[in-house]
Amino acid sequence: MRVLKFGGTSVGSVQNIRKVIKIVSNLSNKQAVIVVVSAIGGITDQLVLAGNLAKENDEEFKNIFKSIKKKHISFTTILGITDKSVLIRINNYLKELEQILNGIFLINELSKSTLDKLLVFGELCSSIILSEAMKIEGLNTKFKDARELIITSNKYTNTLVDYTISNKNISKYFKNNKEAITVVPGFIAATADGDVSTLGRGGSDFSAAIIAAAINSSALEIWTDVSGMFTANPKKVKQAKAIEFISYEEAMELSHFGAKVIYPPTIIPVMQKNIPIHIKNTFQPNLAGTIISSSAKQNEPIIKGISNIEHISLLTLEGNGMIGIPGFSKRLFETLSQQSINVILITQASSEHSICFSVSEEEAQKAKRSIDMAFENEISLGIINPLLVETSLSIIALVGEQMKSHQGISGKMFSTLGNNNVNIRAIAQGASERNISVVISKKDVKKALNVLHERFFEDQKKQLHLFVIGVGNVGARLLNQIEQQLPYLNKKLNINIRVIGIANSRKMLFLEQAIDLSNWKELLEKESVDYTLNAFKEKVVQLNLRNSIFVDITANEEVANSYDAYLKNNIPVVACNKIACSSTYQNYNHLKLLSSDYDAPFLFETTVGAGLPVIDTLANLMASGDEITSIEAVLSGSLNFIFNNFKSGTDFHDIVKQ
Ligand code: ADP
Ligand code: ASP
Ligand code: MG
Repeated sequence: MRVLKFGGTSVGSVQNIRKVIKIVSNLSNKQAVIVVVSAIGGITDQLVLAGNLAKENDEEFKNIFKSIKKKHISFTTILGITDKSVLIRINNYLKELEQILNGIFLINELSKSTLDKLLVFGELCSSIILSEAMKIEGLNTKFKDARELIITSNKYTNTLVDYTISNKNISKYFKNNKEAITVVPGFIAATADGDVSTLGRGGSDFSAAIIAAAINSSALEIWTDVSGMFTANPKKVKQAKAIEFISYEEAMELSHFGAKVIYPPTIIPVMQKNIPIHIKNTFQPNLAGTIISSSAKQNEPIIKGISNIEHISLLTLEGNGMIGIPGFSKRLFETLSQQSINVILITQASSEHSICFSVSEEEAQKAKRSIDMAFENEISLGIINPLLVETSLSIIALVGEQMKSHQGISGKMFSTLGNNNVNIRAIAQGASERNISVVISKKDVKKALNVLHERFFEDQKKQLHLFVIGVGNVGARLLNQIEQQLPYLNKKLNINIRVIGIANSRKMLFLEQAIDLSNWKELLEKESVDYTLNAFKEKVVQLNLRNSIFVDITANEEVANSYDAYLKNNIPVVACNKIACSSTYQNYNHLKLLSSDYDAPFLFETTVGAGLPVIDTLANLMASGDEITSIEAVLSGSLNFIFNNFKSGTDFHDIVKQ
């Protein structure tokens, strides 16, 4: 028997449900299939929201309930479900749901176990609808309620599965029931006392894995809305690619650090039985997808993927009272565990002066309260500081089995982030050396994911993002030249230039997807906003794109005075504006110093020597040991012309005129 799990998007519309039915029907001709299904996409979120609103005494929950009801009823109608008993059953579920919401509204309380009672309706309804739609298509289908199969050991969400009882239930049921297709709701389970429970958000994957392991299925198929597990979240990194093969451990690491495509606990039961997991795309079933298994392949890339977790808080317990005294971390983590707070990452400096760990943002205040209470005595004596809480952070993790046998990976990771002005707040490396994780500011996540992806997965093609002020004669020629040279630069130097922002003294235009250089004049006329120097700079910084470069093609003093703001944001400055370098020597030195401190080049080759490569040539000569004793030159293009042409027989004034 094969186990297939379909996620929320896969059953998110009637059209999609038909695609699911087609995939299942093709397979079920050959062998019996167990179909585990999620709630219709978005319904679980809506149930959580309705529950919270009801708890807060906000009548808006009624509208959300109405929309949930409407969606399910419309699915049954469009799918042509007419069987009375099925319609009554769905109706009863919806009634019960409404009653629970009203109850929450009355008592203003939403405990974890009540939340579970609410959440089960998503999967109960979707699975009944799917199984009925399959029957209508003539498929031999039976529905089986997961609450009679999967038993958890206590009532609350994120509970432990009682494998002994669950495995027995599952194997017994499927031994006696060999329908072509069995539809089972994912995510939901029951306690030994018969109360409902759930397996945690995203838990339908886990339900399918528990069933696949219990019946020793040959494979577990996770059908979703992307074509496999990707090198990074494809919604955030456009260049991300599907990973062909990945080990259980790597997949677990990636999903633990946020690759939502598979719910982390899913991997354990199938890994123990060596059952491969196949991730496939419901909307492109012919694509290969990803195989997660134990067998490592030869010549695998060192880094398999990058993932991230959002809404992270970094908590630091610090103080002299910790040094050399055993038991502090034990007390700290015991306190967190008593409060059921999940610790995502831990680092401790070897000075033992501080312990730093991260938890999800919503648990941060609870953690602070309980820890400050647990260490009340030490805090009052001043040997430990109250817990420090920093928010608006995110974790990025680099994952790969082969990392342990390759040095330099973390160096590459940190320098890539540093060069792009991404500040690292904390670092952790798993003892398995299968991952390196860093905590960074939320605002840097997209950039960090993209630069790391570029560094570790793309053929070292460098993406440059240009911001150009001054698009008169020279500026226009530059844009023209860039457009013309793009294919060459791409092919020969592996550089891709995208001009993101341009401005003249009146207008400025920013297009994050890059400005079409064949049409920039018209765009600057039509789609621009008013230019100010400050607004331009703010926008460049706010876009926060990797490898940003500021280009000054004006002869304006204010623009020249703005370079230090760019350099301080690690943004290189390229100027043909002569003012900065011919201003005070102190200012010139200041800019050169910033450039080296922030590792952001400051280039001004065209400000001297009429565009001939004078500065670079001199720098190379000096670097190779030549010493400069004196420089003689006519550094003005006009004077050069005049003296070159001032020969006997010509009049000085004619040449000047010319
Ligand atoms: P389902 O409803 O089918 O269970 P999920 O929304 O839970 O689907 O998981 C699929 C989503 O996971 C993708 O749409 C994608 O946005 C997200 N995702 C995050 N990281 C990754 C990754 N590394 N590879 C693939 N998908 C990822
Ligand atoms: N419907 C549940 C959720 O949204 C379970 C799942 O989709 O896997 O979390
Ligand atoms: Mg999921």
